[in-house]
Amino acid sequence: MRFGRVLGSKIFPLFLAALIGAAVIITGAGAGVDRALKIVRDSVRAHPASDRFVLVEIDARSLRALEGWPWPRSIHAKAIQRLNTAGAKTIAFDVDFSAPSIAAEDEKFAAAINASAVPVILPTFRQYASQHSEEEIESLPLPMLRNYAQLAAVNIIPDSDGLVRSYPSAIVTGGVPRPSMGAMLANASGSAGEQFPIDTSIDPASIAHISYIDVLNGRFSKKDVAGKYILIGASAIELGDRYPIPGWGVISGPAIQLLAAETLRAGSSPLRRSPWIALGLAISLLYAGTRMRARQQALLATVGGCALLALPLGLEFFHMGSMAVVPALAALIGGMAWIAGAEAVRSFGEIRGTDQLTGLPNRRTLERELALADRKAAMIALRLGGYADLATLLGPSRGAELLLRVVDRLRASGIDTIYRIEENSLAFVANQTLGEAAEELFGRLVSSLAAPIEVAARQIKVDAVFGRAALDGTQASASIDHALLAADQAREQGRAWDDHSSEMEGSRDWRISLAGELDAAMAAGEIWVAFQPKWDIKRNRVSAAEALVRWNHPMRGLIPPDTFIPTLERNGQILDLTLYVLDRAMEQAACWSAGSKAINIAVNISAPLLTKPEFISAITDRLAEGTIQPGLLTFEITESASIENPESALDAMQRLANLGIRLSIDDYGTGQSTLSYLKHLPAREIKIDKSFILAIMENRSDEAMVRSTIDLAHELGFEVVAEGVENQTIFDLLREMGCDYAQGWHVGRPLPANDFMATIGQALAA
Ligand code: C2E
Ligand code: CA
Ligand code: CA
Repeated sequence: MRFGRVLGSKIFPLFLAALIGAAVIITGAGAGVDRALKIVRDSVRAHPASDRFVLVEIDARSLRALEGWPWPRSIHAKAIQRLNTAGAKTIAFDVDFSAPSIAAEDEKFAAAINASAVPVILPTFRQYASQHSEEEIESLPLPMLRNYAQLAAVNIIPDSDGLVRSYPSAIVTGGVPRPSMGAMLANASGSAGEQFPIDTSIDPASIAHISYIDVLNGRFSKKDVAGKYILIGASAIELGDRYPIPGWGVISGPAIQLLAAETLRAGSSPLRRSPWIALGLAISLLYAGTRMRARQQALLATVGGCALLALPLGLEFFHMGSMAVVPALAALIGGMAWIAGAEAVRSFGEIRGTDQLTGLPNRRTLERELALADRKAAMIALRLGGYADLATLLGPSRGAELLLRVVDRLRASGIDTIYRIEENSLAFVANQTLGEAAEELFGRLVSSLAAPIEVAARQIKVDAVFGRAALDGTQASASIDHALLAADQAREQGRAWDDHSSEMEGSRDWRISLAGELDAAMAAGEIWVAFQPKWDIKRNRVSAAEALVRWNHPMRGLIPPDTFIPTLERNGQILDLTLYVLDRAMEQAACWSAGSKAINIAVNISAPLLTKPEFISAITDRLAEGTIQPGLLTFEITESASIENPESALDAMQRLANLGIRLSIDDYGTGQSTLSYLKHLPAREIKIDKSFILAIMENRSDEAMVRSTIDLAHELGFEVVAEGVENQTIFDLLREMGCDYAQGWHVGRPLPANDFMATIGQALAA
């Protein structure tokens, strides 16, 4: 259940996406796709090289013309002279001069280098000392050559798949740092060991080139060389200096040196931006997606995906580096797929007519099946009290769990197909007509739910009411509504079940209109508060009173609170009423204590109010006004409040107690809580419900219950009030049992404040 809730939550796709993205980044699994994307981007951005660098190619034609490689070095001397004359800016060689050749030849070459008016750059390269050695050495041109030349490293380092994608700014060998050829030609500096990506959007075939033999023979136009940076190197296949690069196939080593120089010259940022940034963007997109409708989500996924694809293109276009986006794309696709899949499962379930949370068939299914049915039967609805509180407090899946346990119990008592027709309501069809077998059926159902149900390690007393309505296949939906209405009616009348009748429709309207009249009734003074004394048995005097609301309706007369309070609770109007009663109670407490007749006043607080922050803050505000001592107020909170929402109820009660308000557990004995459980609550008093007190005279077991309750409550530090004390006999018995307070008609009926004082005045504590 808990796991299911995590999977169904809105943030789960974000976690999933982050997980996928991180896995792809860390394992490097997306690198291949990222490289393929880079090739596509390069082809989009493909552009020619600048004409700043010129490759003088030792090509097949030159090799054929000048037989016998390596050529005598005087040939290179001649090439230097030719290029000087033509006005080259720099002359670089990507040719190995580390071994001596014929001395005279070497000397001629050295002399030409020395005589060159422009810088001559010769190559160095790093290599292993021997095939099996780990030691690396730098191969340098002959000392006589390097005396007059500048040196640059020409190592090319392919990736593990053999392709060349990056290039060093400088290379350190044996502690000696050396700029790379590309960096030197581009006049760029860079730290040793730093690699930068070669800009493979430059078409290598567009690099200006002249055949070596043409240079040697002076068959080139001067303007192709004047002011240019010249690199002389081998492109002939037989010389073997060739490497594959992404998107362009195999090209020569010197061409790679020049591509690198072009990259640096264009000022491309060598930065590889962190793929986590793209992942962050993808997760933000998904987060935005969780708040959208399905169609917007599809649009977002498409636009977001394209934006992620375009992001590195933009970076590369503005020379701001590059970024791997495949991890982010994988995350976006994974997250979106989850969201779409969850949505599909959900809507599929709905179309099929299944309630998603419980898996029970839903109202749609029930209606469809009823329309086909042609039989005499009754529709029965079950409404679960306190469901909304439970679901708010513990989450809808806990509510669903409770429903499923209720379904188990109903099944065990012989009901087979059960539908969830509303959030807090179940329904099923019984093979009987109205008026038939009601007592037997409902007796069985009610007793199947008598024992508390365990949900999330809590014992929950199921507060279920049933309603029964005639089943009319042609009006299936109306039958369901009727059964629900009958259940609501049963609750209001304090019954376990009821049959639907046509009068109910009227009474429902009446109740609804009553709720609408509340504000006007409070303003008109139709609603007022009666005070009923609580007798302090030990001190023999009245020391407290309970405020009980009254409604004198101009048309309907006195409406009992049990009739309208449940309606107000359902309509969310109970806060207004409670504050109204509280204000009257505080006025009276202030008035009486000013006349030095301090009397504690108890106000009834509906359980749902405890979880409302507005309630607690309204109370705090009122007490801050300082019109009465908080100790003059008692809040009576019904026992079941604490058992259904233990955590938040406890929290609210603690806050009220901290404000100095006395707390009392009302209706003790009607719920499932034990005294040892209640002792954890910050309450000072328990009120034994009048049903037990009234039953004392007839039933010995109730007497024993009251007696043991009083004893145990005292041991736990509670004061005890007995409610419903109607005669002297009960009063005497309670005194003998050690009960602290008695409340009931024998002591005094609920009365308006003035009458209360007139009749009770003498019995008040001075
Ligand atoms: P409760 O809190 O259990 O209140 C005690 C009920 O017992 C009152 O009924 C009272 O008139 C009645 N009663 C008092 N003495 C005797 C007696 O000797 N014998 C018998 N048979 N009954 C006695 P009432 O005033 O009709 O109130 C009914 C319920 O309405 C209360 O039960 C309480 O739960 C609720 N209620 C009343 N006023 C308010 C209010 O301001 N706010 C809220 N939330 N609920 C209220
Ligand atoms: Ca009460
Ligand atoms: Ca009571």
